[in-house]
Amino acid sequence: MVKFMQIIVGKLSGFCNGVKYTIEKANEVIKKYHNVYCLGEIVHNESVIKDLESKGMITINQIDKCPQNSKVIIRAHGEIKETYDKAKEKNIDLIDLTCGKIKVIKSKIIQKNKDHFIIIIGKKNHPEALGLKSFAGNYSYIVEDEDDIKQLKNIIKESKLKKLFIISQTTFNSIKFEYLVNKISDEYNLFIEVDKTICNATSSRQKETEDLSKKVDYMIIIGGKKSSNTKELETISKENCKNTYLIQDYKELKDIEIKSDSKVGIMAGASTPDNLVDEVILYLKRGSHERT
Ligand code: SF4
Repeated sequence: MVKFMQIIVGKLSGFCNGVKYTIEKANEVIKKYHNVYCLGEIVHNESVIKDLESKGMITINQIDKCPQNSKVIIRAHGEIKETYDKAKEKNIDLIDLTCGKIKVIKSKIIQKNKDHFIIIIGKKNHPEALGLKSFAGNYSYIVEDEDDIKQLKNIIKESKLKKLFIISQTTFNSIKFEYLVNKISDEYNLFIEVDKTICNATSSRQKETEDLSKKVDYMIIIGGKKSSNTKELETISKENCKNTYLIQDYKELKDIEIKSDSKVGIMAGASTPDNLVDEVILYLKRGSHERT
């Protein structure tokens, strides 16, 4: 009897609402003004960037390099405070496409930083975490792992603040967030307010990845290799399914051997367009027929 590959695609695969909004708006703005700059990669996905660049978007890394009076997109992650200040000086028209959920975290930080030491649980070099920290002032810290908790001691002491406000990068690992919060509570005998600001789109996708990876022989995670939320999905999946592969598009499947009678789970990151998922499904289906 010929057995066929079973492919299960995660229901929450693909663009989150924040990324969808950013890409839709970017398309509108480019159509209207033609030459529009974008500070940093609009989303961590090469095919999306190439598409928008072919329509007139110019990706640039520093606000200093944007001409006076130009139009500049702020991507979904948000930006550091200095960028907003410099844009004002250069009379740059900022098109702020920061995701609404990140804007809410930013305002909470601004509200709390007067009398709280702010801890952002997130990736130290991630633009979202860096952007949030820039609005938190000097008495703030990005905690990525356990070692950072000890580093905090001196700076908290110096601040003389007696209250901590802990929030998270929206794409951080939910379990790791709780673990680090518990460690901070054990270490510091201060008033601690915790706001778990991990986006639902992220936590639900992580949960679905966890569940799916327990049921299949192979897991294919599709997304940009620089995307934090995609890498997190890979980590979660690997805990349950050793045959987990993070790929940017179907072409990378050529180097991966997948048995034709296996069960394959597919999950895509928040900045992965549907057509990349469709291409992977098509490739797997075609390959499966060819091998049987
Ligand atoms: S993951 Fe959530 S917070 Fe991040 S861009 Fe998407 S909707 Fe916004």
